[in-house]
Amino acid sequence: MKKSTKKLISFLENYNRWRRSSYLYEQPVPEELGQCLDQAVEMLKNMNKPLSRQRLSQLKLKAQGKCELCAKDLDPEHKACLPCLAKRRERLRERKGHKAKVIGGKGRCIKGMDEESDTARAETYQKMSKANYLMTNRVLAEDLQVSQTTVARYRKIFAPTIRQQNELEHKMARADYSLTDKELMFAYGVSQHTVAKYRKIYGSK
Ligand SMILES: [Zn+2]
Repeated sequence: MKKSTKKLISFLENYNRWRRSSYLYEQPVPEELGQCLDQAVEMLKNMNKPLSRQRLSQLKLKAQGKCELCAKDLDPEHKACLPCLAKRRERLRERKGHKAKVIGGKGRCIKGMDEESDTARAETYQKMSKANYLMTNRVLAEDLQVSQTTVARYRKIFAPTIRQQNELEHKMARADYSLTDKELMFAYGVSQHTVAKYRKIYGSK
């Protein structure tokens, strides 16, 4: 059994203290001690090994700010290689038998969403995907004949996501605040409220 480095260190430290005849420390099991010494020796040997050509080229690419796997430029905003990230995510998903993530969902996709047996739920899903989430929960609930809780839940899924919020933040931080509110609203396709909010934050700069 291999130990983590942390456990290995504490095991060996404990052993050495016991060896110096401190009765406060536990006597290690000889078999375990042997394995731990082997592992420690193996680690020391590896420290002196030269890096492989593959690893060297990966480190070189990383230092140049490129993807380690495909050597392409990283996404400027995400500081990562999106195609490679997606591939890795899919591999992991397959290996662990997970389903794809639903944006806005609570970690897992909604139960029964892909099951044709639950027609009522599928219908609601259809209906809610086409709703106009600029309106308030109450108005939408009345319009669509569903509860406000339902609207709130589907808002998380279909209304603009956090990522879009980040994009807005990015956009508004670089806006030219010498323009009037109206011009900014037109230029960025946002409400006056939004312009006012970001003018307070970024307008003075
Ligand atoms: Zn890549």
